[in-house]
Amino acid sequence: MAGYDLHTHSTASDGSLEPEALVREAYAAGVRCLALTDHDTLAGLSRARQAASELDGMHFIDGVELTCLWNGRVIHLLGLGIDPDFAGFGGYMEQLNNLRNERAEEIARKLVKKGLPDLLADARSNAGQGQIGRPHFAQAMVERRLVLTPQQAFDNWLGQGKVGDVKACWPTLESAVGLVKQAGGFAVIAHPTKYNFTFTRLRALVDDLLAAGGDGVEVSYPGVTPNHLRDLLLLAKRKVLSVSAGSDFHSPEQRWTALGRFPPFSAAAHLLRSLLPECTEEWWYDAVANA
Ligand code: AMP
Ligand code: MN
Ligand code: MN
Ligand code: MN
Repeated sequence: MAGYDLHTHSTASDGSLEPEALVREAYAAGVRCLALTDHDTLAGLSRARQAASELDGMHFIDGVELTCLWNGRVIHLLGLGIDPDFAGFGGYMEQLNNLRNERAEEIARKLVKKGLPDLLADARSNAGQGQIGRPHFAQAMVERRLVLTPQQAFDNWLGQGKVGDVKACWPTLESAVGLVKQAGGFAVIAHPTKYNFTFTRLRALVDDLLAAGGDGVEVSYPGVTPNHLRDLLLLAKRKVLSVSAGSDFHSPEQRWTALGRFPPFSAAAHLLRSLLPECTEEWWYDAVANA
């Protein structure tokens, strides 16, 4: 287990733990630097920060995972170390909230057309106060016994290219990076190998990230292969990028993820150093070495 985790979700988006519970679980798992990075919302940050302040030696990083478009493809961009009070977030998040609500309606309509019951109310209820997404539809399908697992819901109905994978006019990568930079954060491409891009395409993505003023790439996360981890570290080195890592934790029920758990690695250009410049070398070594 690593002593840090820079990619996690709470009930503010599609995670199952409340922000306070997430922070406490992470601490119990040995995490001493945690970023909350909910999809397209900052709503959980103040609660998580408050909970972290009550735990001895716990560092909290304000984060977000922004859905955006690059060359017609959906990309996830992490904003880490952002100032959640930056005024520019207001309108941007409102736009994303509207997009997600409209998309949810469209997902429900498309599924009904394919003969499924109308799942909009169930999905909304699963999302609660949080930002609605496809996992809330997956949960609704499991609850109605239309599928056995959320994974099956994605495989059959919601995953890439399926009927419930509804396109939306997400903001561009450039605008997402611009927002994160204006808010004083670091802009990092999340889980680069999960977009089914070739490495040539990934290099082009990284070039555009840098051109937009972005900072780095996630290199370690559950599911990354040893070869991909090595290739991502090499890519980051060549392009002089910062590197980040996290569990992408959503729920204790997802057995393949755990807070602070992702393949170990070490890199001089680790974003953790920039995020916590006040921490000593010893602290940093402990946080990374235990991964
Ligand atoms: P959305 O933000 O509505 O586009 O939904 C994306 C979220 O759905 C991701 O952050 C994951 O939590 C989940 N997800 C996406 N693809 C899959 C998949 N193939 N299997 C399981 N969960 C997935
Ligand atoms: Mn998610
Ligand atoms: Mn993601
Ligand atoms: Mn994520």
